[in-house]
Amino acid sequence: MTGQQVQESDIIVVGGGGSGLTAAIFARKAGASVILLEKHSELRGSTGLSIGSITATGTPHQKKAGIADNADAHFEDMGKFAEKFSGPERAARDNLELRRVLVDNVGDSVKWLMKLGVRFYGPMPEPPHRVPRMHNILPNSRAYIYFLKREAERVGVDARVNTPVRQLILEGDRVRGVIAMVDGRETRFLASRAVILASGDYSSSPEWKGRFNPPMRDVDGVNTTNTGDGQRMGEELGAKIDFGELMYGPNLRFMPPAKAALVQRLPPWPWLTGLMKTALETMPSWLLRPFVLQFVTTYLSPEPTMFEQGAILVNRNGRRFADELDKPTHAFGGQPDKAGFILFDEAVARQFSAWPYFVCTAPGVAYAYVPDFRRTRPDIYYRGDTLAAVARSMGVPEGALEEEVAAYNDECARNGRRPLEKGPFHALGPVRSWIILTEGGLSVNGHHQVIRDDGRVVPGLYAVGSAGQGGLLLDGHGHHLGWAFTSGRLGGLHAAGANSRDLS
Ligand SMILES: Cc1cc2nc3c(=O)[nH]c(=O)nc-3n(C[C@H](O)[C@H](O)[C@H](O)COP(=O)(O)OP(=O)(O)OC[C@H]3O[C@@H](n4cnc5c(N)ncnc54)[C@H](O)[C@@H]3O)c2cc1C
Repeated sequence: MTGQQVQESDIIVVGGGGSGLTAAIFARKAGASVILLEKHSELRGSTGLSIGSITATGTPHQKKAGIADNADAHFEDMGKFAEKFSGPERAARDNLELRRVLVDNVGDSVKWLMKLGVRFYGPMPEPPHRVPRMHNILPNSRAYIYFLKREAERVGVDARVNTPVRQLILEGDRVRGVIAMVDGRETRFLASRAVILASGDYSSSPEWKGRFNPPMRDVDGVNTTNTGDGQRMGEELGAKIDFGELMYGPNLRFMPPAKAALVQRLPPWPWLTGLMKTALETMPSWLLRPFVLQFVTTYLSPEPTMFEQGAILVNRNGRRFADELDKPTHAFGGQPDKAGFILFDEAVARQFSAWPYFVCTAPGVAYAYVPDFRRTRPDIYYRGDTLAAVARSMGVPEGALEEEVAAYNDECARNGRRPLEKGPFHALGPVRSWIILTEGGLSVNGHHQVIRDDGRVVPGLYAVGSAGQGGLLLDGHGHHLGWAFTSGRLGGLHAAGANSRDLS
């Protein structure tokens, strides 16, 4: 095309989250020149918004805890997760070749991240894993991006933000590069060896969610820049998408603090994360929790048990809008600002102040209770001696809230649910309903090359992370990040033509 700028390198990586940064680093370390193009104004992706848990075997943490484990056992246990959460029919279609790639290499991914400076604590148990395997990042998932970005700069990856990739450039059937927007102008980026799609999932594309799972179409995704661009580009060349209908959510989540607290802006200095790790391992949790919760930057998810025990949901107009016990997550679409508040009385507040009644799981402290929110999240916690007082603090109309609670309490007399009785009353919110991630990635082979329906490779095209999930079921916690970093490492090396044995 005339008038287009042209830029050249050996490898072009599309997407600057966990898998893209990792792929870029490994391709560069294998000797290729690498340009990474990121659509958003910062490198981050869902990776930097996540809780940050990664599930792996053979790590120094397992060793230190005296846990004997191996990749074969992990492989078997992943099958149990797939059966339990995705169902036997899907589990029978799981991509076992990619599961093998994951379990055989994810321990090395954790070790490599540790070498960069990432610090984990754990491992934590998560049945049906037969032994503890879940490693949790300190202080939060932004540390992944911090260290990956630093390493990418160190090895000489040319990373550009605000550069959305629009389409692939083909020469015959070979992928030769991409067309991206730079300052509003189309620019051709030519890749002499390969393009690696690392553009995440389609959790924020109404079209893609609607295509595979229509009721999810208008439920917002957490990461607004993940719109299935890589899946679209690969599908246009004949790749297929497996398990496109599988989505994690909708799921109620509180917004993270609008303005990051000072402690959240601190870099993950080794002395700080080291101190946190020692404290987590040695100090009582009650002493630590206010401190550790200060670092939480992610979208915490309240437990449905709050509703079972008598909390209700109201919208910004103070009106109840859903049966809290029957898929309330599906009812947010039509509400003002797609938001709600969880309202409860003093009895529920006391109940959710101690195990086993937690408001949500939380990184660092495992479980967060009402007093934790009161202390560390004043932006989303409200309290008032009367309904009118709590309504004022939430910024919703007092009369409406009083009316709704009176009507709800009348219903309770008939249906046996627990009414909101005595103040003080408490509320948490705004809470929104989100799709956290979608599972449909492009079909790839064991070297992360994109393949067509008939199994033929698309020359010059690789896909990693969620974009290259290839029909692999990643049920349970910590497998998605495990896949992002592991497929990133291996995909980057394969694309650069390196031997996957020189991996560290
Ligand atoms: C709230 C939340 C909590 C989570 N917690 C966990 C957890 O604890 N453990 C776990 O294993 N998983 C977790 N996940 C899932 C996990 O974070 C993701 O599966 C993983 O980070 C995906 O990595 P990725 O590199 O494939 O994609 P991402 O990290 O999302 O990166 C994709 C990047 O590509 C960019 N991009 C998209 N289109 C284009 C384009 N056209 N041009 C250029 N750039 C483009 C995007 O802007 C984005 O930066 C969580 C997810 C969320 C949202």
